[in-house]
Amino acid sequence: MSSFHSTVSRRDFMKGLGLAGVGLGTTAAIAPMFHDLDELTASDSQFKHPWYVKEREYNDPTVEIDWNVFERVDRTRTVLGSRFPLTATNAAHGSLHPELAQYIKLKADGRDIQYMKEKFSTYQGPSLRDQSLAGASSASDKLPSPSFTGTISGVTIPTPESRGTTKWQGTPEENLQTLTNAFKFFGATRVRVMEIDDKSRKLFHKNSTSGAPFNFKDVDQPSEDKSESVIPNKAKYVVMYSCLEATDYVRHAPAPTYSGYCHGHKVQANVHYFMGSMGYLHIEAGNCTNSDSVAAMSGIAEHSRSSMVATSYSHGNLFRWMGRIVTDMPLAPTKPVDAGIARFCVKCMTCASMCPYESMPFGDKRWDHESPEEERLKNYVPGYKGWRLFNFRCPRCKNCHGTCVFNGGNEALIHQIVRGTQSVTPIFNSFFANMHDAFGFGTRNPDEWWTHDVPTFQFDKTYLY
Ligand code: SF4
Ligand code: SF4
Repeated sequence: MSSFHSTVSRRDFMKGLGLAGVGLGTTAAIAPMFHDLDELTASDSQFKHPWYVKEREYNDPTVEIDWNVFERVDRTRTVLGSRFPLTATNAAHGSLHPELAQYIKLKADGRDIQYMKEKFSTYQGPSLRDQSLAGASSASDKLPSPSFTGTISGVTIPTPESRGTTKWQGTPEENLQTLTNAFKFFGATRVRVMEIDDKSRKLFHKNSTSGAPFNFKDVDQPSEDKSESVIPNKAKYVVMYSCLEATDYVRHAPAPTYSGYCHGHKVQANVHYFMGSMGYLHIEAGNCTNSDSVAAMSGIAEHSRSSMVATSYSHGNLFRWMGRIVTDMPLAPTKPVDAGIARFCVKCMTCASMCPYESMPFGDKRWDHESPEEERLKNYVPGYKGWRLFNFRCPRCKNCHGTCVFNGGNEALIHQIVRGTQSVTPIFNSFFANMHDAFGFGTRNPDEWWTHDVPTFQFDKTYLY
């Protein structure tokens, strides 16, 4: 199976850069990253980043944060995504802004399908086999979800004591390595850690959509009832693990596909069991934190224009599930990274221009919301200078996942060149963004998916490293 669906030759590409016909020596003078093509193609192996990725200080991601303004989100007054709607109960509390209620059950209205029809003239819309595939890929998403405290209905997680031993002991570094290998074995792609301190604690929501607060207390065990959810202060780390959307299918899918959530749901049960069995707290933090902000802080990805999904230099926008677990296991925190993505997004609007629901910002980074509607209702997280999703319009159609310039897997040399070049100089960024679709890395005709060689179990091998 080809990992490179180019309609443009490599020579044409280099010509576009103004580099065709020059040797490496000359090229190096123009773009220093071409000094070392071996390094250029070096993969991100566990925690060894490619040379063009820089680590930043803790609590200092590439998105600028004003910690005096940044505050814990009140979920009874903020819609952060139509997949997790506010409920009628909230409305009954009287705490919900009346104008927010109309956005509670936002659904895709077919604009994503129309988009594909316009892009591919022979495409007629989803066939029975398309609908069957999309439905079947989510059919196994029926496992009971772990509760806030990490219990899973119908599953007994053995304690070390029940096995006649004591909890697992390792250094913070060893424990991070242990979790990484275990989580990758279960199907995660990346594992990173954010330490909970006075600043990063602000990334936890103030309350649930029902209004019950998330409180940090000096207690031994987490708890949850209707009045509050309690996180013990001794649990100092958030482990974030990413699971991929179906890397190949997502670009062909005619309409929303949630197979990445289905896969992530399975991994979620695995990782909760593993951490509990090792003797540590495993608090499910998916409903009390925001994935984009934890991603930026832990260095698993960068904040980007796509804003509903953080962007990874190695996997682009294909992290569909971003699991978060709070634990007391001693762990070595990982640092935010700078691969130049936030800078690249300033000129690149590929995902925004391909959003069928006009849900993405086209402007520069800003402290407020680009959508006048959401700005008027203050429906956003304040205190960071970046991009914000138009929550009131986005039905989670997935197009922005399949179209990012940083998608492309690890074997596509052209993406290594793009990633390396943009990290050093922005002068080619517009060119790279424009070339993306021509190289075949944007959306593809859904009908063609049925005739090409598909990867086993949803993931192209170039993404599995
Ligand atoms: S922001 Fe992404 S998921 Fe939302 S409508 Fe646009 S392309 Fe679809
Ligand atoms: S497609 Fe372009 S603008 Fe969108 S997230 Fe990727 S790099 Fe940024």
